[in-house]
Amino acid sequence: MAGAGRGALAYEELKGFEGRAAATAGEGRDPVNAPMIRHWCEALGDTNPAYEGPDAMAPPTMLQAWTMAGLSGHAGRSGAYDDLLALLDGAGYTSVVATDCEQEYLRPLRPGDVITFDAVIEAVSPLKTTKLGTGHFVTTRMDVRADGRLAGTHRFRILKYAPRAPGSGPAAPAGAAGDRAAGEMRDLRPRPVVNRDNAGFWAGVKDHRLLIQRCRDCATLRFPWLPGCNACGGQEWDTVRASGEGTVFSYVVMHHPPFPAFDPPYAVGLIELAEGVRMVSNVIGVPYDKVRIGMPVRLTFLRADDDLELPVFRAVEDGEA
Ligand code: ZN
Repeated sequence: MAGAGRGALAYEELKGFEGRAAATAGEGRDPVNAPMIRHWCEALGDTNPAYEGPDAMAPPTMLQAWTMAGLSGHAGRSGAYDDLLALLDGAGYTSVVATDCEQEYLRPLRPGDVITFDAVIEAVSPLKTTKLGTGHFVTTRMDVRADGRLAGTHRFRILKYAPRAPGSGPAAPAGAAGDRAAGEMRDLRPRPVVNRDNAGFWAGVKDHRLLIQRCRDCATLRFPWLPGCNACGGQEWDTVRASGEGTVFSYVVMHHPPFPAFDPPYAVGLIELAEGVRMVSNVIGVPYDKVRIGMPVRLTFLRADDDLELPVFRAVEDGEA
């Protein structure tokens, strides 16, 4: 069914990659070490005392970090993974997105542990259609060893897919399932996931009010919405309405990959509100390449379609502030 057009691709051929090595006899660039642990903890704001001092262990979530090669890459990487990706590229599944990661921890890693690892292509899914496009999920499993003993496993899943050209339905390979859904969704932005924890925020947006949560116990403001206070753990909260004034704290310009309903390049800003919390949003009213850190912006509401309105930030003109 997916064989139409360029690159007929039999699923059996993809299945044949399952169980093949993605990396063999990999070696960590450095033994587990205190400086990397310290940088990691500082970056994440993790002050757990288990990660400090003479009996320190590494944060378990660093598992993959000890296997990473850096810019120079690893010698001895197996060709099977590259072959699989090349096969998918050739069949039109040219885009890639990391979808999820699962880790299991068998024993703690400590400074001085020498890391080795092997990785295997664990699974290649049948053809799947997602909102991004149609393609195959590829799961690799890496077994990480410390001084030869298994310390943990790291499963990593990507989707190799054929991106939809904006406004034109799914790209090749043609004939894949989901064309109808694509036609209906193509020009609509993704829907926000509204749940118990953030329903009040979206109710506010409907009323053109940008609501920030405030802890009832310690009055700390927080955004995005969460069930508890990061400062004190308190679970009671109320809200304050943002004034709508803010500045661009940081930003990126999105070029790739293209998503339906988005027209790259465009600027995505991390906006620092006058109240002190930050939120990710679009910066509008100024060309994407004129967005700058520190630029004053003001809240406005963008009607994306009949069912979706979003808080965005408009650049404040010189002299208007
Ligand atoms: Zn609090």
